[in-house]
Amino acid sequence: MLSLDGVSARYGAVEALRGVSLHVGRGEIVTLIGANGAGKSTLLMTICGAPRAHAGRIVFDGRDITALPTHAIMRLGLAQVPEGRRVFPRMTVLENLLMGAEVAGHDPAEDLEAVFALFPRLRERQGQRGGTLSGGEQQMLAIGRALMARPKLLLLDEPSLGLAPLVVRQIFATIRDLNLRTGLTVLLVEQNANLALRLAHRGYVLVTGRITMQGTGAELLARQEVRDAYLGTG
Ligand code: ATP
Repeated sequence: MLSLDGVSARYGAVEALRGVSLHVGRGEIVTLIGANGAGKSTLLMTICGAPRAHAGRIVFDGRDITALPTHAIMRLGLAQVPEGRRVFPRMTVLENLLMGAEVAGHDPAEDLEAVFALFPRLRERQGQRGGTLSGGEQQMLAIGRALMARPKLLLLDEPSLGLAPLVVRQIFATIRDLNLRTGLTVLLVEQNANLALRLAHRGYVLVTGRITMQGTGAELLARQEVRDAYLGTG
């Protein structure tokens, strides 16, 4: 579904990604873990075309997207939930969701029903402004908005950020459920390594722009280096 081969990206003189290779198979949940500043967000943004990879190749659903502009990449069936959620605070929940549908340009009624079934809270709050929702509800809204575009691949940037553990578990359970029921492919970037690796089929560890480890979620959770660096369990 997605493969990166030797991808590098930089901001001016800062080399944020150095020869990253990874793949995400159809129907998989793949997690990328790494410390603050390792380049996780940059990786997701580079897949979406900004910053552009200055070396390497990115293939999505059989097409080379390395040089495509962001809007063209999104039209191919990629949706990103950015770090910090970025819901439109003055728009209602419903308006936020419909913004997601406009990107894809199809009749949104069916998708809206599917999102409300997934997140009943959003149905209850559909007339409420985005900015008045709790952090967890805003994360649901951001995910719901991305799903309105009927993506083949969902990119999630730190959905757990700033949320209470119970809310994080609910959101991760919903992602798993969605993956099981619909086969949605997910690339998840997380600092919360424990939950994220439990959720994932496979994972990668990113350290200062390079992939240093990969394996199944269970394999990575069992590695001493991962436990020391990302789980604090020694
Ligand atoms: P975080 O968890 O804090 O989001 P991250 O792993 O997602 O961290 P990135 O945000 O991708 O890391 O940052 C990777 C590197 O690129 C860091 O050294 C960061 O300072 C740098 N960087 C990120 N965005 C920019 C930018 N817009 N301009 C210049 N440097 C940037």
